[in-house]
Amino acid sequence: MQLFPCPFCGLRDEREFHFAGEVGKTRPKTSEPVSDADWNTYLNTQRNEKGAAREIWCHVTCQEYFVMERDTVSMDVLETVALRKEPS
Ligand SMILES: [Zn+2]
Repeated sequence: MQLFPCPFCGLRDEREFHFAGEVGKTRPKTSEPVSDADWNTYLNTQRNEKGAAREIWCHVTCQEYFVMERDTVSMDVLETVALRKEPS
C-alpha cells in the first residue's frame, strides 16, 4: 500500500484516490463535430511518461481534485497542488 498526500486531508491510503487524467490534455471542443477517432484518442490515450509526470487526481473521500507530480518509475510523490485554493 502507498500513501498519497491529499492537499486538504494529508496522507491517505492510495485506495481513496481516483486518477482523473494527465495535466495538459485538451478536451475536443464539443461545440463542433468531433470524430469518433478524436474522441477515442482524448478518452483513452495517455502519454504514460517515464519519470516525472503531472496528473490530476481526485481524493474520493473529500471530493477534491488536485495535481500530483509523481515519478512513474520509483512511484515517489514529488508534489501535490490543490486545484481549488480554499477547502470547503
Ligand atoms: Zn482529501
